[in-house]
Amino acid sequence: MSAWPGLEAAGTAAPSLPAAGPGGRYQIGRVGTYPFQDRPPLVSVTPQGLFCPPGNFHIDPWRPVERALITHAHGDHARGGSQRYLAARAGQGLLHKRLGANTDLATLEYGERLTVGETTVSFHPAGHVLGSAQIRIEHRGEVWIVSGDYKRTPDPTCTPFEVVRCDTFITEATFGLPIYRWDDPRLVAEDILRWWDGNREAGRASVLFCYALGKAQRILGELSRLTDRPVLVHGAVNGLVACYREAGVKMVPTQLVSETEKGASFTGTLVLAPPSAGGSTWMRRFGDYATAFASGWMRVRGNRRRRGFDRGFVLSDHADWPELLRTVKDTQAARVLATHGFSDQLARYLREQGLDAAPLATPFEGEAED
Ligand SMILES: [Zn+2]
Ligand SMILES: [Zn+2]
Repeated sequence: MSAWPGLEAAGTAAPSLPAAGPGGRYQIGRVGTYPFQDRPPLVSVTPQGLFCPPGNFHIDPWRPVERALITHAHGDHARGGSQRYLAARAGQGLLHKRLGANTDLATLEYGERLTVGETTVSFHPAGHVLGSAQIRIEHRGEVWIVSGDYKRTPDPTCTPFEVVRCDTFITEATFGLPIYRWDDPRLVAEDILRWWDGNREAGRASVLFCYALGKAQRILGELSRLTDRPVLVHGAVNGLVACYREAGVKMVPTQLVSETEKGASFTGTLVLAPPSAGGSTWMRRFGDYATAFASGWMRVRGNRRRRGFDRGFVLSDHADWPELLRTVKDTQAARVLATHGFSDQLARYLREQGLDAAPLATPFEGEAED
């Protein structure tokens, strides 16, 4: 166990805690079921973000702070401007790309423990994107997990989710409704290849929109099990693909759209682009093309039609409904706090099942629609 170098010298006044209830008890969820109810919450929401008073650090803060522990490199979790960062080593390349090469970023291997203030922290795989981590915080025998974003579905581009026992589990609830259930991602990849082949035969290009960090690389990774044909990528996807390649993730060969020969035909090609590129002048070069969107939101048919995509592929980097329930159970947490998306609905369902659960208001976005 080691200490975060220079930590002792820092030191700021901790933001004020929520007031304790009757008898000095901090009631978050159901009364009387939480074993550490006489203690203030180990993590609470402050104007800067999730804050751990005994550790004097924030987790995925949305405003600049002194010390930020980061779960993963998505924009709503890894924001710039903080003085010092701590994250899982597997996410180092992506975080430097997102936050800048000169960012003060210390890293830990998954499972490696570090003393921060009066707490012990460690990072554990979340299975969400490359380098994503759940953050485990231990203080006087009480353990909290801040899961960030996570999924249980296999993903060839990142380390699988690790179940970590805890007292309080802060879970995401991006897809916290029973309608959200994912198919086997290998079958989805086969569907994508069939769609690409169909468009090739029809003399069209295939433009597949997907989130530039995580989803695009996962598609390239899944496709590499089925084909070695090169795929064209938008500039926003390309730099992140490079980070994944540096980390040794196997993907099909890629080529930057802007580096294709002038006047070259895009007929029969597959192009990966962020949804923001849709409808822009950037699309004109592809001539005759079909569009598709790969997202968990494609589970709801109206979303595809409303957004005007020719095709929707249901593929998410977040836990679906059964995965959320299974994970809550696996952690053996006595209390569950839900963030993202359908947090009210998930917390209500868990309470109905007899669990101590409540929503936790944060500005995390879940799976962005664009
Ligand atoms: Zn994320
Ligand atoms: Zn998120």
